[in-house]
Amino acid sequence: MRIIMLGAPGAGKGTQSTFFAERLNIPHISSGAIFRKHIQDQDEIGKEVKDIIERGELVPDRIVIEMIMERILQRDCQRGYILDGFPRTYQQATALKHALLEFGEEIDHAVYLHVPDENIKKRMPNRLVCPKCDTPYNIMSNPPLVPGVCDRCGAILQERSDDTEETVQKRLETFHSETEPIKDYYRRKGLIIEVDGTKDPDEVYKDIVKALVHHGNH
Ligand code: ADP
Ligand code: ZN
Repeated sequence: MRIIMLGAPGAGKGTQSTFFAERLNIPHISSGAIFRKHIQDQDEIGKEVKDIIERGELVPDRIVIEMIMERILQRDCQRGYILDGFPRTYQQATALKHALLEFGEEIDHAVYLHVPDENIKKRMPNRLVCPKCDTPYNIMSNPPLVPGVCDRCGAILQERSDDTEETVQKRLETFHSETEPIKDYYRRKGLIIEVDGTKDPDEVYKDIVKALVHHGNH
């Protein structure tokens, strides 16, 4: 099962991807999380992308594409994976398609989480993320069991440096101009599943499962 999660920054892609990765026992591949790891490690890629990410811009396609292609070729991806945050441009979407075609594979579903910009702007100041395992939390709608501590690994939660009001605005603009159009690309292929992402995380999850079952029967 190869699933793509599409949606605005803060739409809940990471949260839903975590649910599905656990349920289907396949890797959750988040391009943003991989970049954050490179930034923490202060390696070559980290140095190249740090400022770009903090400005709320997209990392150049060549860097992201190479990084994700390398990841999906690893052994643990043989049974499938959830792609969270990739593709984000038309060029990334076609690069993915061509790479998969070489192995006779394709994407099974592209899940689109609808959340209006106004909701996103309200959510962002409440967002926390685990610096170790990248699990996202929201102090209002999806809080950790112990305040400030990651449920999964016990690390102290942090705010993301790119979650400032200004950067969020920039990321939303980039989303509308670069990423939203690829929804049509997947719709034309009959792969899109659209759900209302404004509900509670477990409601959204149920809606996606329902839609997947329905989609799978066609
Ligand atoms: P969110 O979905 O909340 O915006 P992510 O963790 O997916 O956050 O991504 C954080 C940042 O990493 C993005 O704003 C962007 O700068 C960079 N990034 C992640 N994925 C991609 C991608 N596929 N193409 C270009 N840049 C990316
Ligand atoms: Zn954690």
